Amino acid sequence: MGLPWVRLDANIATHDKILHLLSDPSTLRWQAAASYMFALAWSGGQGTDGRIASVALGFVHGNAKTARLLVKYRLWSEAVGGYRIVNFAERQQSKEASDAIRSLQSVGGKRGNCKRYHGDSCWKNGKCSVEEVS
Ligand SMILES: [Zn+2]
Repeated sequence: MGLPWVRLDANIATHDKILHLLSDPSTLRWQAAASYMFALAWSGGQGTDGRIASVALGFVHGNAKTARLLVKYRLWSEAVGGYRIVNFAERQQSKEASDAIRSLQSVGGKRGNCKRYHGDSCWKNGKCSVEEVS
């Protein structure tokens, strides 16, 4: 399962790579910049850990030309079958971490409900004693 949100660099508007991209003579530079941010969100939501398959460029309102611009300014790198958002792993929570956190939250919720409905002594060895029987 993917993330419901992603992190966006608070300095993205003045980041040197973005400034260089926006100084490019291409008429597609603004679409490429928007696509970069859409791709951050899309990748987080899909749990792709920064990978954007070529066939998924439409989902991030990009195309082969905007992708080339993002690669040119090192915001993306080329990868097998598509592209990879540079530094995605350093800035975003990985799918693995998200899944682990979700799993811990689920156990925490079960434990809370167990205590609420069955009392303090029900939860043993990481499980609800009542649920264990049924
Ligand atoms: Zn219980």
